[in-house]
Amino acid sequence: LPFPIVLSGTVQYGFGRGGKDLGCPTANLPDESITPMSSVTQTGVYYGYAQISPEKNGQFVLSEKDRGVMPMVMSLGWNPFYKNERLTAEIHLMHDFDSDFYGHEMKALVLGYIRPELDYTSREGLVEDIETDKRVALKSLARLAYEKFKSDPIFDTTQ
Ligand code: ADP
Ligand code: MG
Repeated sequence: LPFPIVLSGTVQYGFGRGGKDLGCPTANLPDESITPMSSVTQTGVYYGYAQISPEKNGQFVLSEKDRGVMPMVMSLGWNPFYKNERLTAEIHLMHDFDSDFYGHEMKALVLGYIRPELDYTSREGLVEDIETDKRVALKSLARLAYEKFKSDPIFDTTQ
């Protein structure tokens, strides 16, 4: 098994495709940060942990409560905007942040796969599945064998 997979990069602006309306904003990584995922070509939903760097342009601008290692769900898919030739990773952190964090460094540890990508005919169906994904992720992460990953050396637990 290829897990854990480490991803890191600066959070990019996406197309604002309603992630926030669905109650599920997803932070986008730049293309080159996704290379480590090429060992698993399966598109779909993954889970793990992620952390946002508190600083941006040399200044500490992230609330203290927002600086921890958070459980996350990640969607990996072929981006229709790039004629499906480009793989995109979008990460939803399960935490209520005080502010956006575009331009901040994000580190993620991908620990497992939840399900393949699905096509949705209704918004309700999509929202329901996202809620299920979050529950599955939290349940998996609660297993004893995963405890150590929350304090993995890639994360900064001193801040
Ligand atoms: P975009 O298309 O720009 O990615 P989204 O609606 O998906 O727009 O919102 C993502 C942005 O929301 C992130 O880049 C980040 O700055 C902010 N954000 C706030 N809370 C979260 C969260 N819990 N998980 C992910 N991103 C969040
Ligand atoms: Mg997004």
